Amino acid sequence: MNVPFVDLKAQYAQIRDQINPAIQEVMDNTSFVGGPQLKAFEEQFATFCEAKHAIGVSSGTAALHVALVATGTGPGDEVITVPNTFIATTEAITMAGARPVFVDVDPESHNIDVCKIEEAITPKTKAILPVHLYGQPADMEPIMEIAGRRGLAVVEDACQAHGAKYKGKRVGALGHVGCFSFYPGKNLGAYGDGGMLVTNDTKIAEMVRLLANHGRAEKNKHSLEGFNYRLDGIQAAVLSVKLKHLADWTDRRRHNAQRYSELLRDVDVITPVEKEFAKHVFHLYIITSNRRDALAEHLRSCGVAVGLHYPIALHLQQAYAHLGYGQGSFPVAEQCAEQVLSLPMFAELTEEQIQHVVNGIKKFV
Ligand SMILES: *Cc1c(COP(=O)(O)O)cnc(C)c1O
Repeated sequence: MNVPFVDLKAQYAQIRDQINPAIQEVMDNTSFVGGPQLKAFEEQFATFCEAKHAIGVSSGTAALHVALVATGTGPGDEVITVPNTFIATTEAITMAGARPVFVDVDPESHNIDVCKIEEAITPKTKAILPVHLYGQPADMEPIMEIAGRRGLAVVEDACQAHGAKYKGKRVGALGHVGCFSFYPGKNLGAYGDGGMLVTNDTKIAEMVRLLANHGRAEKNKHSLEGFNYRLDGIQAAVLSVKLKHLADWTDRRRHNAQRYSELLRDVDVITPVEKEFAKHVFHLYIITSNRRDALAEHLRSCGVAVGLHYPIALHLQQAYAHLGYGQGSFPVAEQCAEQVLSLPMFAELTEEQIQHVVNGIKKFV
């Protein structure tokens, strides 16, 4: 039996009859950029996130970039984030002209260790950029408390966490602005690249709209220089259809995660911890093993596609050598990089596939 890491074909097969006419409509209207599909999807996504405003953009990376610029980060500033994330998080900081400053993560959730944020703050710090890694919210209340006291912006990287909840509230508008990715493999994925910012702050929303569309509020009038970061109509139409299914898909991801955790209870690997404040949406289901690489190889030989998120912490990447960190700078994140293994996770995963993955792990252990 082969178990893929994600199965986008299985998902498309379910919703083909809704997707195809939605795309056709965009083509018939030639509403390729902007247009009614985009406006409708922005409203639907804002409602979904319990946020006042949602602004579609061209990717999660673009969302993070404009979020930082719109909340006041610029050249010479510092932004606090984590070293165990996808490089887009820190690319956005650099694109805004600022410098990433890392803090280590909590060993249970692998999200930012809120006890270590204050010691990383300097007079140059402008923002905190927590990542809701794997689909589990970071501990937002202490983050907002520190940010409020120190006058910092909070930009949520919710690119893996569509619909996740913190103390009953959706992620995205818990901070000043939240950023989502609609990369095809994300929990809500487009048929190409796409992203979204959500916020309750009308000033930030207006600034984001300007920045994402060449600094233009009306035709031929540019109040500032911006970017070409728009979300296109076809992606918005696809995402509108898929958003209606997201609650159901999330329930199934959570069910699959629970099955993995039950079946692995007495096996010598560490399964994910869902924090008491969190509703985790399991973009990734990760296990931790001190023989991770051999286990990954064994599972691949059993036909199980596994992933590594992320095998080299950002502070040890060549791209960030200039930041001056080294081995041992962030011991928890470094241990995650060595021990975390992502198992196949998607809504359509079957009980047989889950059993096959678990049996593979049991054989190895
Ligand atoms: C996917 C992802 C991004 C970037 O999103 P893109 O849409 O690919 O630009 C940023 N941060 C995290 C944590 C991600 O998983």
